Amino acid sequence: AVKNDGKNAWLYYNPVMQANIIQRVSFEQSLRDALFNDEFSLHYQPIVSAREGKVCGFEALLRWQSSNYGVVPPMTFIPIAEECGLIIPIGNWVLKNACQFALRLLEKGYKDFFVAVNISVKQLKHPDFVANVRELLAEAGLPASYLELEITETVLMDAIEDNVKKLLELKELGIKLALDDFGTGYSSLTYLKQLPIEVLKIDKSFVADLTDCEKTVGMIESIIQLSHRLGIQVVAEGVETSEQQLSLQGYDCDMTQGYLTCRPVPDSDVFVFLEKKSRPG
Ligand code: C2E
Ligand code: MG
Ligand code: MG
Ligand code: MG
Repeated sequence: AVKNDGKNAWLYYNPVMQANIIQRVSFEQSLRDALFNDEFSLHYQPIVSAREGKVCGFEALLRWQSSNYGVVPPMTFIPIAEECGLIIPIGNWVLKNACQFALRLLEKGYKDFFVAVNISVKQLKHPDFVANVRELLAEAGLPASYLELEITETVLMDAIEDNVKKLLELKELGIKLALDDFGTGYSSLTYLKQLPIEVLKIDKSFVADLTDCEKTVGMIESIIQLSHRLGIQVVAEGVETSEQQLSLQGYDCDMTQGYLTCRPVPDSDVFVFLEKKSRPG
């Protein structure tokens, strides 16, 4: 057998590896073309108050309808976009379109809402990120308070001080910050204390366990209480049943998001959803 010590690995022809590289290159090329070919769109999912079901905001979720691959889920293409740097132009596209959506809501007379945009750590680390966001908001003429940026906790843990500095600059602009997928990483209390966030989103894996695991109940209750003590509002993600919704109300959760209220939908359907909501009865 050939000893593969890494150093001379390239000497040995490996057809599987070769095929993977070709696949990878063509996938990246499709991703690169997707922006120009207008294959991306945003869906929006309402985030509602846990008690009254009042709409508080919307999370923008990126969708890719590829001419080569069909519908590709974000969990598949986002990590690759991060690796090859495409997340920067794609992320800017998302921010720009989410701002346009917020403007349309304002035009229709809605005032009490925020639009939440997922941000990758590669974007946050980019030296121009804060300036980019500031410019995008100025160009759109959108007050920063309508924008919320969601950042996952795992992503913040390395280089915490640099990241906190960036987050403070964003906060200074008037943007709201949310910690996404809470509970999936290490969820250290030290980080929670350091991060200048207004919102914490409990990961959907916790919510899924809620009704049949006493320990999960204890954790969710404690996370909510602790958050409130720190002046942080809590959103529960992935709420699919009214049983979960009722439990979360009981634990004093502030907001919920999930299929129970509404799936992520194209922006035109958001307006239909809002009209139905505001209709009496
Ligand atoms: P996330 O930010 O945690 O978004 C919530 C995910 O949960 C979305 O998956 C949403 O469709 C799904 N979801 C909502 N309600 C329910 C429910 O009741 N049950 C279940 N099982 N799932 C629910 P989606 O749209 O596939 O996005 C997956 C992830 O991809 C997001 O997780 C986010 O991390 C990432 N992502 C999506 N759009 C963007 C983007 O524009 N930029 C970046 N950097 N990441 C994005
Ligand atoms: Mg999110
Ligand atoms: Mg999440
Ligand atoms: Mg996620």
